[in-house]
Amino acid sequence: MLDTESIRNLLVAAVPDLLIKGQLQNRNAVIGASEVGMCARLVVHRKLNETAVDPASAGRMLRGTALENACVQIIREAFPTGAVKATGANQRELRHATIPLVCHPDGELTLDKKKYALEIKTADPNAFRSYVKNGLKVWYEDQATVQAGLADNLDGTLLVLVDSSNLGNIQPFHIPFDRGRYLAMEARAALMARHMAEGTLPEGEPDRSWGCSKCPLRGDCAAFTLRMATPAADGPDPLLVADLTQLLDDIKALEDQIAEPSEELEASKKQLKESLANNGLAVFRAGSYRVTVTPGVKETFDSKAFKTADPETYAKFVKVTNPITMRFNWGD
Ligand code: SF4
Repeated sequence: MLDTESIRNLLVAAVPDLLIKGQLQNRNAVIGASEVGMCARLVVHRKLNETAVDPASAGRMLRGTALENACVQIIREAFPTGAVKATGANQRELRHATIPLVCHPDGELTLDKKKYALEIKTADPNAFRSYVKNGLKVWYEDQATVQAGLADNLDGTLLVLVDSSNLGNIQPFHIPFDRGRYLAMEARAALMARHMAEGTLPEGEPDRSWGCSKCPLRGDCAAFTLRMATPAADGPDPLLVADLTQLLDDIKALEDQIAEPSEELEASKKQLKESLANNGLAVFRAGSYRVTVTPGVKETFDSKAFKTADPETYAKFVKVTNPITMRFNWGD
């Protein structure tokens, strides 16, 4: 009989070795094309404090990479022989000559004598629907611009978005090369690199945030504090709407994945509840989502105290709380 316990220990012990190699190595010293368009304060904070990739993050990254490699094969099949030069699992790294700015395009597509950088993105079903309907996040377009610029693919980038749960859902986007935008990305990378060298943090950029509501710097970010203190006159601030929508995406994804309540799911719901309460929102709609909040009064009975007390003193042991219940409508 194989000693599976020893084998398990061997395998678990081998994981850290994998994580410090190749794609999973720490990238604290460089700014990736996928990072350069994101909130500079958060990116630099991560670079200055980044620890080695943990096994859970590595699992998610590898799942995405495996899917992207499969998509590369689909794209090769779809175009005439030789049109797609894919780097696949061995992504080549392109580096800026003077700034620590790097990118790893998934390949290159040649069509009608024009050359395009090829980038594949996977997204969960909610994000996929949202990008198809509302367009890509600004930093995806920035990433595509940097890839095209560093690869000298001046006809732009073909970004292929794939639903991670359904390979039948594929949406290509052409991002034309824009030299002005590319130069702006170079300037952003140079600014980040300077702060990394000095060990300081640049200003926060809420409009380039993946979600300020989840940011570890939200209590130390003047830009976020200012934005939250000046809500739009005609309704919830777009940043707040974006953060709430992100939270709803997370909750929906967790509810789809798991049958029972989990700590992560409950924490996300608590965060959403607090956000809605703090912003005085009883109903929040985003796309097909709708969440309603119903305040209520709940009485609980302290039975331990009741046992040792006279029933007549019951009233003294009643605790009154104000629970809030939420109802979700995902519009599916
Ligand atoms: S709170 Fe928002 S703007 Fe501020 S550092 Fe975090 S992500 Fe950036």
